[in-house]
Amino acid sequence: SSKWARARAILKEFEEKCGTPDAKLKQVADAMTVEMHAGLASEGGSKLKMLISYVDNLPTGDEEGVFYALDLGGTNFRVLRVQLGGKDGGIVHQEFAEASIPPNLMVGTSEALFDYIAAELAKFVAEEEERFHQPPGKQRELGFTFSFPIMQTSINSGTLIRWTKGFSIDDTVGQDVVAELTKAMQRKGIDMRVSALVNDTVGTLAGGRFSNKDVCIAVILGTGTNAAYVERAQAIPKWHGPLPKSGEMVINMEWGNFRSSHLPLTEYDHAMDTDSLNPGEQIFEKICSGMYLGEILRRVLLRMAEEAGIFGDEVPPKLKNQFILRTPEMSAMHHDTSSDLRVVGDKLKDILEISNTSLKTRRLVVELCNIVATRGARLAAAGVLGIVKKMGRDTPRESGQEKIVVAMDGGLYEHYTEYRKCLENTLVELLGEEMATSIVFEHANDGSGIGAALLAASNSLYV
Ligand code: ADP
Ligand code: MG
Repeated sequence: SSKWARARAILKEFEEKCGTPDAKLKQVADAMTVEMHAGLASEGGSKLKMLISYVDNLPTGDEEGVFYALDLGGTNFRVLRVQLGGKDGGIVHQEFAEASIPPNLMVGTSEALFDYIAAELAKFVAEEEERFHQPPGKQRELGFTFSFPIMQTSINSGTLIRWTKGFSIDDTVGQDVVAELTKAMQRKGIDMRVSALVNDTVGTLAGGRFSNKDVCIAVILGTGTNAAYVERAQAIPKWHGPLPKSGEMVINMEWGNFRSSHLPLTEYDHAMDTDSLNPGEQIFEKICSGMYLGEILRRVLLRMAEEAGIFGDEVPPKLKNQFILRTPEMSAMHHDTSSDLRVVGDKLKDILEISNTSLKTRRLVVELCNIVATRGARLAAAGVLGIVKKMGRDTPRESGQEKIVVAMDGGLYEHYTEYRKCLENTLVELLGEEMATSIVFEHANDGSGIGAALLAASNSLYV
């Protein structure tokens, strides 16, 4: 029927606009490398901020003691206690509490947000077993994982450049988030010192390095997306401080804000961006990360409902609600292996109140999930290739052996299997057969929290 022809035409056009042939991905990777150079050359030199983390030593495995971490990501935040066993002792004990951020606090005041976080931290500390108590006169020390762009001024201070991922709290911008947290902890009567302020990518790199010496890149694919890697200090022209003894510096790329004319953007992406809290910003993030994939899918489905009536004569009203279709739901539909695509049918009914969908319609939905996820995953792989190229590691080494281990974390990477497989296969494909065994992806589970605790240890006042 003409209805189906129209629906197929919309799908075909979307698929073409989302196309990521290898040649295009290589252009994206090269553009990423170019922007990395520009961002390292001067402050404001690129859309890539290439932020200096003040982490010039990654964990060695010798760290010892009880340390805390607070991980504020986007959707949830976690409080952790980590007991480190010292030389070859590994992680002796680890415990965490998790809470979601109430949506009203994401757009309220700075004080309200930090008070809420400090209150959860206070609860966690109050319930702690006596064996973890610090000796008299010694403060508890905390690594603060804060996954938003920060201009750091030292390992434990830095000002918020801007919010991303649905947060919008004007009075935090330009403030030192460690000072904000410290004030809130004092208001709640918590005796704790923030010894490290780290981005989640930097934490994941640190956590990954603790268990594998070859980890040199970290990528987060969760609500948002970002990456960090180990750079040579001498390759950072904008760094005017003393050269670190290690000769290295971890760089938080803030790659979510990458954009390039090579990125395959569709009308749906442009419309979503225009309607967002941060139009024109975080374009790479908006096509790759968990906050947005489901929303892109919703927009294409809405168009199909309006122009091709795929869900009947009426456009289902719920389908008009922004962000109603979340990425975990999209992922569940994409992974539906039942012969009648029952999961897809159930999700459409439960979330969008669309009942009695035909198998044909359900198949169309799965095809769309695949297009959206494939584009995101392949572009994320191109981003990693950009980093590998910047590090000069995209060709085989004379010595052979050495591996490039990429520490990966985030809910999207962890749970969206099709996305993860596509990302990993694409990078291997782009690097070529000779390099295929040199690149390893490692899921650094909870790496950002553990990494922050490790960095709190290496920056402790008491060592
Ligand atoms: P954050 O990025 O906020 O620190 P996480 O790393 O836990 O938090 O990532 C949470 C995000 O991961 C969610 O917002 C969602 O987009 C994505 N996600 C969670 N579960 C799934 C899933 N089952 N399938 C696909 N994406 C998921
Ligand atoms: Mg996180």
